[in-house]
Amino acid sequence: NKQVILKDYVKGSPKESDLLIVSSTVELKVKPGSSAILVKNLYLSCDPYMGILMGEPNPSTSALMDVFFVPGKPIAGIGVSRVIDSDDPTFSKGDFVWGTVDWEEYSIINPTGSFKIDLNINVPLSYYTGILGMPGLTAYAGFYEICSPKKGETVFISAASGAVGQLVGQFAKLMGCYVVGSAGSKEKVDLLVQKLGFDDAFNYKEEHDTDSALKRCFPKGIDIYFENVGGKMLDAVLLNMKTYGRISVCGMISQYHLETRDIVHNLPVIMFKRLRMQGFASFDFIDRFPKFLEFILPYIKDGKLTYVEDIVEGLENGPAALVGLFRGQNIGKQILEVSRE
Ligand code: NDP
Repeated sequence: NKQVILKDYVKGSPKESDLLIVSSTVELKVKPGSSAILVKNLYLSCDPYMGILMGEPNPSTSALMDVFFVPGKPIAGIGVSRVIDSDDPTFSKGDFVWGTVDWEEYSIINPTGSFKIDLNINVPLSYYTGILGMPGLTAYAGFYEICSPKKGETVFISAASGAVGQLVGQFAKLMGCYVVGSAGSKEKVDLLVQKLGFDDAFNYKEEHDTDSALKRCFPKGIDIYFENVGGKMLDAVLLNMKTYGRISVCGMISQYHLETRDIVHNLPVIMFKRLRMQGFASFDFIDRFPKFLEFILPYIKDGKLTYVEDIVEGLENGPAALVGLFRGQNIGKQILEVSRE
């Protein structure tokens, strides 16, 4: 059973060498009376929060999550798996489930936190790591619940081509908003405008004067900012917000691994422009999951939503795929395919 192990607590941005591939010879068997299930892991989700969990717990990050990765043990994340053996009457051999699993080929799990996948919903299984999973719920709750969007408003999204951003942009377009995204390469910018239907987009790595880029795209200002990166981007956006604008703080990936975080100079604008800025966590909205599925499935079925995935094959390529998130290597939702069946 191949596994991906955290060598030691990570300082700074995670590197491929912080993770190790090992082969465990422990035989995995479901014990009678354990209510556990044995699964084969097919798709593993690569998510930015996993980088935070590779570091030593500290008071600020522990406010969000209480289970950090343990040096010497496998890292864990959301995965799609096939049930091989079960001691839980609600799961049978051959069922597909999604939920938290260790990064390994086979896992024994307590399935109380896992969702059974309905195979009548005709979508790729990998969707349960993205559009039909945690990033999908994040985009849905973060946009509709936190941003209070209205038709015709102007919306800006950073890290716009990623797992969450690409959906927020499409939700905003479906609502009749004017939507602009920023991303870190020409290929991503083209994707936003040509494939995902954004009205405009810019490459923040080439266009260093973010304030000018925002003024060009939003001559009358921004009603809604969907924040994924933080730091200098937030500083420039604050200057371009309209009065009574809303900022949904989904993430601040540029700040997670800095020893000294960037100073945001323009925070007084929040008061001057009477902005509302709110952070949120997807798991706070888990009770909305059935409503979210009801909302999103017809759009997928009618081809009104596109979801771009970046699938890397082989557990041994997992460390590179995961740390690549922090360099913008992924184009769309980053997924690791451990096995196709
Ligand atoms: P993405 O698929 O967007 O991948 C991360 C992207 O972030 C990269 O591709 C890169 O895109 C960008 N990025 C990486 N490093 C930097 C940097 N230093 N400065 C600017 N941009 C950077 O990830 P997700 O869609 O899964 O997540 C997006 C954000 O949402 C993250 O901040 C994440 O932590 C957060 N999140 C929060 C959740 C919640 O519950 N609140 C749940 C899920 C995600 P580019 O090439 O465009 O720079």
